[in-house]
Amino acid sequence: PTPKPTPKQVLAVKKSFNKATDVSEKSSITSSEEHPSTLSPKEHENLKEALEDDIIEQLRGVDKTAAKQIFAEIVVHGDEVHWEDIAGLESAKNSLKEAVVYPFLRPDLFLGLREPVRGMLLFGPPGTGKTMLARAVATESKSTFFSISASSLTSKYLGESEKLVRALFAIAKKLSPSIIFVDEIDSIMGSRSNESENESSRRIKNEFLVQWSSLSAAAAGYQSGDDDSDDQRVLVLAATNLPWQIDEAARRRFVRRQYIPLPESETRKTQLVKLMMHQTHTLEDEDFKALLELTEGYSGSDITSLAKDAAMGPLRELGDKLLFTPRDQIRPISLIDFKNSLNYIKPSVSKDGLEQYENWALEFGSSG
Ligand code: ADP
Repeated sequence: PTPKPTPKQVLAVKKSFNKATDVSEKSSITSSEEHPSTLSPKEHENLKEALEDDIIEQLRGVDKTAAKQIFAEIVVHGDEVHWEDIAGLESAKNSLKEAVVYPFLRPDLFLGLREPVRGMLLFGPPGTGKTMLARAVATESKSTFFSISASSLTSKYLGESEKLVRALFAIAKKLSPSIIFVDEIDSIMGSRSNESENESSRRIKNEFLVQWSSLSAAAAGYQSGDDDSDDQRVLVLAATNLPWQIDEAARRRFVRRQYIPLPESETRKTQLVKLMMHQTHTLEDEDFKALLELTEGYSGSDITSLAKDAAMGPLRELGDKLLFTPRDQIRPISLIDFKNSLNYIKPSVSKDGLEQYENWALEFGSSG
């Protein structure tokens, strides 16, 4: 019988698997030294399953089915986002580096007074890059990333949701350093005003808060020199478009609350230039300038939608002729295409809506 793998080995194996599969898809002449795991997909699957089972065995008081679900649905790999992929948001990036990435990479420097935070909230209008930032943090901090949407935690069966939450935190600790990213946190951390909902959402919230507190207790152990809790580096990173709906108790636990605003003109330019980089277009500097004025109030995802729609312009006007037109005869994308698209791709946040974010940021946001 082979010795039991440690959680860290498991993680390493999993990561190498991902690389191995990625590469083998592209080329079949990869040397086996570079990618030691030349397992067939089936072998890969079997080993992964065995390793997961092994971890589940080691967890006390965790429901096996729930743990399986966490592994199956929540741990994400691949599809990496890097800092450079995100236009602008420099202060948010810096703040995430300081609060999460550096402490995860250099835990020895972040002790005592410099102890890293256990929770960070990204809030702001939809489509401003909050999810992208979370994914970049995962990539750059080399941690296990648990990406969960509130709905994947909500089970219609009584008690199941709490089991999932417990399994989530237990596995995150086991595979630490870990980041638990919860999108739409407002829907599980809602305040009493929408308590008309139900008993089960209240229970998820409580369980989540209890589990989260247990992390801080572990951190205290770390400070007092308890070696075991070195493995307890787990951070809750959450995103919301509705920060004012978050319960006060939960809000306080997010020590850092980072506002992710609509992109400034400079950021919109960076994004537009990037989006158009590999396209044939006639946009000159002054066209970009004009576009920046026209896209005031647009979010990052609005800009992406706009550019995608404008890119369709030259194809759209061909109609059925599109089917017979050689690629090099398709006309380049122009400012007119953008102007047409601007007629129906509108900003998704209103002025009033924006003000609400800014007020919340003033009252509860961390500066920076
Ligand atoms: P949020 O989580 O804030 O709602 P996302 O991170 O999911 O927003 O962004 C949605 C999409 O909008 C992204 O996939 C990307 O195409 C685009 N986008 C948003 N913000 C940016 C940004 N700062 N830089 C580049 N693309 C962005």
